[in-house]
Amino acid sequence: MTTAAGPRTNWAGNIAFAAPDFYRPATLAELRTMVARARQLRVLGTGHSFNDMADSPGAQVSLAGLPPEVEIDSAASLVRVAAGLSYAGLAARLDRHGFALRNLASLPHISVAGACATGTHGSGPANQNLSAAVTGLELVTADGDVVELSRADAGFPGAVVHLGSLGAVTRLILELVPSFEVSQRVYEDLPLDVLDDHFAAIMASGYSVSMFTDWHAPRLTQLWIKSLAEDGTPPVTEQPWFTATPAPAARNPVPGLPADNSTAQLGEPGPWFERLPHFRPEFTPSAGDELQTEYLLPAEHAVPALRQLQRAGDRIAPVLRICEVRTVAADDLWLSPAYRQDSVAFHFTWRPDSAAVLPVVSLLERQLAPFGPRPHWGKVFTTPDADLHASYDRLPDFLDLARHYDPKGKFRNAYTARYLGC
Ligand SMILES: Cc1cc2nc3c(=O)[nH]c(=O)nc-3n(C[C@H](O)[C@H](O)[C@H](O)COP(=O)(O)OP(=O)(O)OC[C@H]3O[C@@H](n4cnc5c(N)ncnc54)[C@H](O)[C@@H]3O)c2cc1C
Repeated sequence: MTTAAGPRTNWAGNIAFAAPDFYRPATLAELRTMVARARQLRVLGTGHSFNDMADSPGAQVSLAGLPPEVEIDSAASLVRVAAGLSYAGLAARLDRHGFALRNLASLPHISVAGACATGTHGSGPANQNLSAAVTGLELVTADGDVVELSRADAGFPGAVVHLGSLGAVTRLILELVPSFEVSQRVYEDLPLDVLDDHFAAIMASGYSVSMFTDWHAPRLTQLWIKSLAEDGTPPVTEQPWFTATPAPAARNPVPGLPADNSTAQLGEPGPWFERLPHFRPEFTPSAGDELQTEYLLPAEHAVPALRQLQRAGDRIAPVLRICEVRTVAADDLWLSPAYRQDSVAFHFTWRPDSAAVLPVVSLLERQLAPFGPRPHWGKVFTTPDADLHASYDRLPDFLDLARHYDPKGKFRNAYTARYLGC
């Protein structure tokens, strides 16, 4: 087992982890011993969350040193994958065997376990978040025992989006679909008014659609439409509601940044894992120098919520790099931000200035309050714990599950105290 000393931060650098100890076990046996001995502990994935959820007052452990197993069960269309593996490390291997994941987030750099722990999502009105693909998981619980859970277990829907609070997840079983090709086109300058009557139609105009605005003007700066290569949908430009201009060259969704780190566009078909994320694995995703916030709320409130945000546009724009709007299909996972509601997700990539950003985050929460916004668990938010409890009716059951697997609170930290009350 290797250990590391010295300052460590999350990917964005806005959180300096306070955990005094850091471990990187090489085997499951080492991990079990370490978990059993630790007084307090939390697993660190790839550290792409923007808050302190992966920190611990005791030890932090990375599972990146465990064997990067990928076992495909072709007959059942399932893969059992080591939790520390990233989507970038997994996707090409699946594709070589003729399989795909249904959807991906905007970047493939994140660990499968960290993404599923937080309800990470992509876009598409028929696409659930990445956690919804989990059919089973294996975790090392507080006393070092290995527990396997599957969809047949009563607590399973509570255990998938677990925020790191149930134990160290070592393996996940994910549902697969046959490999598919996607082509991606970017359009520019769609007036916001068009969304009043056509929001749902535009969001359904591709397999996965993202709208971007900088809130400097009432328009979408870009519209990214990822279509199944064979679906025969008429080009978006031929649809009567569409007045945007096709981008003449590849684009980066973040204004002012070169397109090099973005996935191929201009309608060139390619494999699912090279089109569904916006960013390529070999480059720094997004701006690199940023904070992020995101809220999910019922999809039917998308347009009034957009109008509410527009009213705060002059406060948002000065601290914003880019705002992205996506859709996520409902699921049944207790702490999923899309729990039992088809959702619209309003995402904000901020300039890296917490002092300037936090008041705007609170303002957004007030603006969106009438629509019952659920924050992305892995991003910056100031939602009071009472509001979170009101948003998630299975939260008490989740806390029972956490007490069951972790009776002494080994996996608790400042984040769980602040937001979950434990
Ligand atoms: C540039 C960028 C783009 C992003 N794009 C998207 C996007 O498109 N959609 C979206 O929804 N989110 C997005 N995110 C957010 C990101 O997907 C989540 O924050 C996700 O949790 C990151 O995974 P991670 O491996 O880095 O997790 P970490 O940040 O390392 O950990 C997150 C939580 O999971 C727990 N955890 C991690 N691994 C384990 C494990 N094996 N066992 C137990 N607990 C574990 C940690 O303790 C922590 O509580 C983006 C983030 C960045 C930086």
